[in-house]
Amino acid sequence: RALRLAGVRIDITRRKLTELALEQQAFTDGLTGVLTRRRFLDLAEVEWSRSQRHRQPLALLMIDLDHFKSVNDSWGHAGGDAVLRAFAATAGEVLRGSDLLGRVGGEEFAVLLPQTDRDGAVVLAHRLQQLVHANPVLLPQGMAGYTVSIGVAAAEPCVPGGSVESLMQAADSALYRAKGQGRDRVLLAD
Ligand code: GH3
Ligand code: MG
Ligand code: MG
Repeated sequence: RALRLAGVRIDITRRKLTELALEQQAFTDGLTGVLTRRRFLDLAEVEWSRSQRHRQPLALLMIDLDHFKSVNDSWGHAGGDAVLRAFAATAGEVLRGSDLLGRVGGEEFAVLLPQTDRDGAVVLAHRLQQLVHANPVLLPQGMAGYTVSIGVAAAEPCVPGGSVESLMQAADSALYRAKGQGRDRVLLAD
């Protein structure tokens, strides 16, 4: 028969806060505040499964800032960083809450658009490309104009198979063609 109960109580608030902070670092890009590549890919997989299950369309944009080396050359690395942050803010303006925005490379971003078909994705991509074109970034040294190229790929609900990777590859090759055709434009995957 137990006569006494002994226990130890430890306050783990600090540890939990540290864990949360580390998680936050792993999930969000330090410079732009958008999703990290890893987190974007994980969430994109979840969205992919969901769209397959509900037979809903899904679209993906691959976005690359044009001639970004020249942007850095003209405005310095800090200027380039400010342009990257401005781009993330502009993209945030045109996206819905359910869309995913990730920084998947140095000056490369990906957007996943749930419940969006090809036409809807192209309209959104054009809006973003034109908004960037029309809005130079105000830097201490002057107005830094920049442009983006965008590749668009869509998965239609009636077509089985495919994957997030194949969608990214398709959008990537459309992006590559957009670069070849002169940049500052949107191209749809075949
Ligand atoms: P393209 O139009 O073909 O995409 O030309 P580009 O110059 O943008 O392409 P490239 O891939 O040759 O160069 C990308 C540049 O982006 C090189 C790199 O120094 C710069 N960059 C990558 N990450 C960052 C970053 O976090 N901050 C800044 N300021 N620059 C970055
Ligand atoms: Mg690039
Ligand atoms: Mg580039």
